[in-house]
Amino acid sequence: MAEAVSSPADLGEELRLLRASVREFVAREIAPHMDEWERAGELPRALHEKAGAAGLLGVGYPVVVEEMIQGGGSSGLCAGLFTHGIAIPHILAAGAPDQIERFVRPALAGARIGALAVTEPDAGSDVARIKTRAARDGDHYVVNGAKTYITSGLRADFVTTAVRTGGEGHRGLSLLVIEKGTRGFSAGKRLEKMGWWCSDTAELAFADARVPAANLVGAEGAGFRQIMQHFVSERLFLAVQAYATAQRCLDLAIRWAKTREAFDSRLADKPVIRHKLAEMARQTDVAREYVRAVAGRFAAGEDVGREAAMAKNTAVYACRFVVDEAVQIHGGMGFMRESEVERHYRDARILGIGGGTNEIMNEVIAERMGL
Ligand SMILES: Cc1cc2nc3c(=O)[nH]c(=O)nc-3n(C[C@H](O)[C@H](O)[C@H](O)COP(=O)(O)OP(=O)(O)OC[C@H]3O[C@@H](n4cnc5c(N)ncnc54)[C@H](O)[C@@H]3O)c2cc1C
Repeated sequence: MAEAVSSPADLGEELRLLRASVREFVAREIAPHMDEWERAGELPRALHEKAGAAGLLGVGYPVVVEEMIQGGGSSGLCAGLFTHGIAIPHILAAGAPDQIERFVRPALAGARIGALAVTEPDAGSDVARIKTRAARDGDHYVVNGAKTYITSGLRADFVTTAVRTGGEGHRGLSLLVIEKGTRGFSAGKRLEKMGWWCSDTAELAFADARVPAANLVGAEGAGFRQIMQHFVSERLFLAVQAYATAQRCLDLAIRWAKTREAFDSRLADKPVIRHKLAEMARQTDVAREYVRAVAGRFAAGEDVGREAAMAKNTAVYACRFVVDEAVQIHGGMGFMRESEVERHYRDARILGIGGGTNEIMNEVIAERMGL
């Protein structure tokens, strides 16, 4: 495991202790197993339980993700281990005590795995096109339709699902929690991906699945607003993964450049490589400082829809540049499965697609600019 060559600024004693405890957890429970989980295509359930017991699943601070990736984890690991971070905020905000007991508490304890299912084969960026229908029948909804690209979809015990309970367009959408074991609900095969291998991704199918009406999250018809509201935290979560991946790749590239020699000197002595590393550090620092500032404003209750979109794109573009240069600096080794930068290079590609694409982030920004 590499130590951070350029460590981020100190954020105070409490965060320092949190950082140390995550670092220790990653070194013991994650880094030695990453290759095995990448091959298996999923994370073990026991990891959720251990992370829950260590109190790491309820912490909203970016430092947890930073340390997970810095210690040898990855954005794929964060996607799989912290899927509850996108599955439970809507339930928590709606505040129904029964749903909090059944879904939120066990997810934070690592006892139940949650997923969020919005995307469908014909509805991705354009959420208002969702077709999965939930028709009310007494105390139940009867759900028919399909979802795709769902993170932790194979392992999830419950899925916060966007369904159409009303007419066409965004006003007809609601959120319904659908539990594993519900007759008519099934997860398809494991989808094979470019990256994020340790995070299982699946298609979900609903064929006359009867779901208790008590699993409706908030009010009927509120789904679109709920999804958009909580996209902000998902976007910030992905932005943190992006700059943390960049930082890790920068550190790995620095370490390589300081030891690898060519033409009678270290790579780190060559002006071209030094300037590459300087530019990688600049982009990573700028992304981290901006994302952290926006995350702080979000935590303080500010409306940061525009800034979260800017933060995501800033961090994603920085990450894209840094992972590419990190592979380049590693030369042939950067293309080898055995080098960690190869995995980050593949994993990073999804960050500008999931949680709203780069183009959709620019749409959000343009709209908030009144264009
Ligand atoms: C590994 C992985 C994990 C995922 N996990 C989840 C999950 O857990 N839950 C979930 O619900 N979804 C998940 N997704 C889905 C993800 O959120 C969508 O793939 C994403 O929102 C883009 O939707 P799409 O794939 O349908 O692309 P499309 O919406 O079809 O977009 C295709 C292209 O067109 C561009 N485009 C679309 N509209 C515009 C526009 N108005 N202006 C300019 N360009 C535009 C897009 O930016 C993109 O480049 C996951 C996807 C992947 C690959």
